[in-house]
Amino acid sequence: MAAFEFSTATRIVFGAGRLAVAPAEIAALGVSRVLFVTGRSGDRSGALPPALEARGISAVPFRVAGEPTVELAREGTERARAEGCDGVVAIGGGSALDGGKAIAALAPNGGDVLDYLEVLGRGRPLARPSLPFVAVPTTAGTGAEVTRNAVLGSADAGMKASLRSPFMLPRLAIVDPDLLAGAPPALLASSGLDALAQLVEPYLSARANPLTDALAGEGMRRSARSLRRACLERLDAGGREDLALASLLGGLCLANAGLGAVHGFAAAAGAMLSAPHGAVCAALLVPSLDVNLRALRARAPGHAGLQRFPEVAAWLTGRPGATAEEGIAWIAGLVRDLRVPGLARWGMVAADVPPLVERAKRASSMRGNPIALGDDELAEIAERSVGDAAR
Ligand SMILES: [Zn+2]
Repeated sequence: MAAFEFSTATRIVFGAGRLAVAPAEIAALGVSRVLFVTGRSGDRSGALPPALEARGISAVPFRVAGEPTVELAREGTERARAEGCDGVVAIGGGSALDGGKAIAALAPNGGDVLDYLEVLGRGRPLARPSLPFVAVPTTAGTGAEVTRNAVLGSADAGMKASLRSPFMLPRLAIVDPDLLAGAPPALLASSGLDALAQLVEPYLSARANPLTDALAGEGMRRSARSLRRACLERLDAGGREDLALASLLGGLCLANAGLGAVHGFAAAAGAMLSAPHGAVCAALLVPSLDVNLRALRARAPGHAGLQRFPEVAAWLTGRPGATAEEGIAWIAGLVRDLRVPGLARWGMVAADVPPLVERAKRASSMRGNPIALGDDELAEIAERSVGDAAR
């Protein structure tokens, strides 16, 4: 077995209604003035600032209205410095969490975000620890509450890249499945399929390890039993718990085992198309798995990853002995039933395929893919993701 390492948030508090402990837990970190980061709506967070004020902690509001960018990270960092914030609390979807995480990391470090950003910037390591960062997810997709990177978009580069450092692991993650109540089915579908991709890709990753394997299997099992019902029938307490846990488990897996082609493409497509991350990953998942399976069989028939496809299939279908193809077909059926559109819905056309492939090849996630894919294979994934996402 290859040597491995596993790291995560200092504390994870999980359970229905656990948002209630947030004020006391944040106060226990010893902060006095926090940048309070919310997402587009911010309506899940209303009671928290007054509860913090009651404990003598002032909350400086900062909104992340879309997926975070280099410019937004710069603006938030200046705000946190100017306001003298000694901590950052983010409540919202992956965008709010990543935005807050980036700001918490940049505020105590000198220089500009581009000094530290991977791929698009200079990629220098952060020298100083982040401000204490608390993450409270309100969607079940990214698992950003337990990861050590923040994905930032750059309109200039037409690409997203990560700010990444062991310092960026949150001090506290509060995962309250009740915060999913009332989420629109389309959001549950795209974020839930992102979570599924973040369980499948680390399991197939070249960097998978026994800890992430155990977590990925549990996550796939929960996602498989609850996602379809949550989106198409009803989202009950058990379903909320499964989806929140699948997302959390996906975050633990991706932070420690890496991802693959789905997320390599998502780093490029998400910035080129300004499409939501979950929707992009959902559209790429089936074509990526198909092409990877074929490439492994053709060029690396003895590859350990090939035995992992039927294991994924067994967790998803609930049938021991299910084949790799049956597993992929199960995901395709789910994507079809949840009516996830292809990337054409977000404006992608055939002419976008070559630049998409070129940018995806540079993305850090591509290095986790179980086998290096050739240009033709990458182009096939991109072409198939344009149309019907279930193909
Ligand atoms: Zn993702």
